[in-house]
Amino acid sequence: MTATGAMWHNWARTEKVRPLRVERPRTTAAVQRAVRAAAGSGIPIKAVGAGHSFTGIAIAPGIQLELEDLVGIVGQPTSDGLVTFLAGTRLHQIPRLLAPYGLAMENLGDIDAQSISGAVSTGTHGTGARFTGIAGQVRGVVMVTATGDLLEVNDEASPELLPAVALGLGALGILAEVTVQCVPRFLLQAVEQPEPLDDVLDTALERAGTADHFEFYWFPHTRTALTKTNTRLPVGAKRKPLNPVSRFIDDSVLANGLYRVTCATGVVVPPLIPRVNRLAEKLTGNRSFTDLSHRVFTTKRTVRFREMEYGIPAEHVPAAVRDIEALIGSRGWRISFPLEVRFAAADNLWLSTAHGRPTGYIAVHRYYRERPTAYFAAVEAILRGYGGRPHWGKMHTQDATGLAGEYPHFADFLAARDRLDPRRLFSNPYLDRVLGH
Ligand SMILES: Cc1cc2nc3c(=O)[nH]c(=O)nc-3n(C[C@H](O)[C@H](O)[C@H](O)COP(=O)(O)OP(=O)(O)OC[C@H]3O[C@@H](n4cnc5c(N)ncnc54)[C@H](O)[C@@H]3O)c2cc1C
Repeated sequence: MTATGAMWHNWARTEKVRPLRVERPRTTAAVQRAVRAAAGSGIPIKAVGAGHSFTGIAIAPGIQLELEDLVGIVGQPTSDGLVTFLAGTRLHQIPRLLAPYGLAMENLGDIDAQSISGAVSTGTHGTGARFTGIAGQVRGVVMVTATGDLLEVNDEASPELLPAVALGLGALGILAEVTVQCVPRFLLQAVEQPEPLDDVLDTALERAGTADHFEFYWFPHTRTALTKTNTRLPVGAKRKPLNPVSRFIDDSVLANGLYRVTCATGVVVPPLIPRVNRLAEKLTGNRSFTDLSHRVFTTKRTVRFREMEYGIPAEHVPAAVRDIEALIGSRGWRISFPLEVRFAAADNLWLSTAHGRPTGYIAVHRYYRERPTAYFAAVEAILRGYGGRPHWGKMHTQDATGLAGEYPHFADFLAARDRLDPRRLFSNPYLDRVLGH
């Protein structure tokens, strides 16, 4: 289907564009035709996922490809759990697709609205010091290149390109299929509880190292962190799911709903934020439940916000959080959203924020009606001081010059881009900024 572009905006309302044309290919061959036509007329072309990046990475001023019709599993999973998804498959569709095979994704982030291609292309990750982000689970792709040809990349075909195309920022081609290493279905036992911030910072590295999935939230203006520790259990273990009513009360009313009140109040009366944060501290946390992995990893986010997140060497996490706490205290800001702190294993993908080092992630958020600039800029300076690398899909101010020094294989990625997309058919202003023209 082809349509003249209506105004497109991302989930966070930080970016918008009116594409010249929107196309909704139903087959890989149709994606190839669209790319060939775009190349022939010199119009840039770009696939968009669920629009859940906070940056302009998905902006498509020329032809915007929507891949909602390219959904599902290609063929059968292999006996060792390799599953090939069509590129437009959304993460929330995956549990149902994998259920007949007794498989699951190894690790997930906070939400499941994203497309598999968008998630891997920006380095989306969850938490777990022994687990990589989602792109680290990719074992192969089929990609439509700038000539409209199909390029297969996996262990046997062009394997040298896998560290680039598995996390390619959408800059190397249009993914048509993504092959992911899945694992047998499993349960997660979740324990969520408020704890003194100092104790959490003193023990965070050790706990991240011993737990399967450890993370914590710190509400500015309080001395409390909400810890979340998830333990992997076999699928046959006893389930103790949250009942739908208490899930609704915890997630929709207390978490998202309270943020809504906090944030709306904070915009009007900023001095109230510390008091409301202390209320949030009392009302959230302290629950334990066991359920299928995807139901525990992901939650719904109904309050719109803006986010910046940096990956830093894991060992610096406690010091960096203390620096941010001191910063907020010294500037007198009223910050309604918590900091989120997560961990991931090192991987070998050229543009992964966890490339070559065990990583701690620190994310800061602001309600979408508050200006994030000063807070994010000051936190960014702190995290860059620790060798931080910004999440490609979350707000930051870095460009290619600064980023080149943070990634040992930055030049290799640029060389792959020069080879695969010499005319920059897949580029946009964000990619020009972070990769150069
Ligand atoms: C509420 C919320 C919660 C979030 N939670 C997390 C989290 O827990 N962890 C985390 O790491 N991130 C998180 N993010 C960030 C998010 O996961 C990433 O920004 C992700 O890229 C969004 O996926 P998408 O499908 O919306 O992709 P888009 O934002 O639509 O696109 C991202 C990039 O992927 C490219 N792309 C999409 N499809 C293709 C394709 N077929 N071929 C080539 N390139 C393609 C686009 O061109 C673009 O470059 C969150 C974002 C929001 C809004």
